[in-house]
Amino acid sequence: MKTITVFKGDGIGPEITDAVIAILQAAKAPLNYEFFNVGAAEYERNGALIPKEAFTSFERTHVLLKSPITTPIGKGFRSLNVTLRNKYDLYANIRPAKSNDAVPTPFSHIDLVTFRENTEDLYVGVEYKINADTIHAIKIITRQASERIIRAAFEYAVAHGRKRVTCVHKANILKMSDGLFLSIFKEIAREYPQIESDDKIVDNTCMQLVMHPENFDIMVTPNLYGDIISDLTSGLIGGLGLLPSMNIGKDYAMFEAVHGSAPDIAGKHIANPTALLWSACMLLEYLGETQTAFAIRSAVDAVLAEKKYLTPDLGGTATTEQYRNAVIAHV
Ligand code: NAD
Repeated sequence: MKTITVFKGDGIGPEITDAVIAILQAAKAPLNYEFFNVGAAEYERNGALIPKEAFTSFERTHVLLKSPITTPIGKGFRSLNVTLRNKYDLYANIRPAKSNDAVPTPFSHIDLVTFRENTEDLYVGVEYKINADTIHAIKIITRQASERIIRAAFEYAVAHGRKRVTCVHKANILKMSDGLFLSIFKEIAREYPQIESDDKIVDNTCMQLVMHPENFDIMVTPNLYGDIISDLTSGLIGGLGLLPSMNIGKDYAMFEAVHGSAPDIAGKHIANPTALLWSACMLLEYLGETQTAFAIRSAVDAVLAEKKYLTPDLGGTATTEQYRNAVIAHV
């Protein structure tokens, strides 16, 4: 048995976490769980966004299943996600987007993986007020952070038999910062002659992704573009309810859905827990529990194919709990 830390989060977070844990338990995943409430609601209750014991738990287990947290816009505390990624140096944010035959979208056969650099770029959150009408935000790109995310993308390509890695950037405008990222990409690409490599400017990438998604395989990109591009790839496969992610560093790993706390549907019991569930499958695979992950993935595929218990984001009328029960029945 392996113990993992679980953060329940805000909005739809507790609902989808409960569903995912029930499915993991039904699948007899060999896991013990240490649960913590974190986020804006926890702050209002107890004065800490992440209780000390929650950090301590993660520092003991090194593996975290995290549900979304609400971050105030334009004011208030720094994003907890950004805090966690920096505190535990979770430098690689890996977001696989794969079409599922049961979820019709204008696109089919999508099979893309975004490698988003997770620790720097504009997300360092350093902003200066020059005067009431002028704000400067600092974008940081370093060789160290760029090398490790780019190398991670190529290593993944080799390990998973993928064909191509594309560097997504804006080096035509940000000649020094994105220029450094691109030149490091070209250096590292030479070490992997068996993997095709190319680069695209981020705006062109957005257009190409919806015109010719088949031309992409793995994308590696600085933090901000990775955030935007991976939401776009979730749209290609049927929405945010379906896109999982893993955030890994040298010592820690955190698994979470790409979507946020969805306050517009919180408490309505209609949230789709699949993205968090697939993140949990990535967690199981990371721990070497590939058979349990496979059983859960197959159960989800069966439920999606049946189309009887789809949540509203996928065109159905099922509640989160009905969907959960259908997955459990297949597991
Ligand atoms: P969001 O991802 O929460 O929601 C966008 C849209 O997608 C909404 O209409 C929502 O109902 C829908 N949606 C999202 N997840 C869904 C699911 N599982 N099932 C069905 N529908 C789903 O984005 P937002 O509204 O821009 O952000 C809400 C809050 O979440 C903000 O405070 C934001 O900062 C935060 N956020 C947190 C994370 C995270 O914790 N990793 C990520 C993104 C946003």
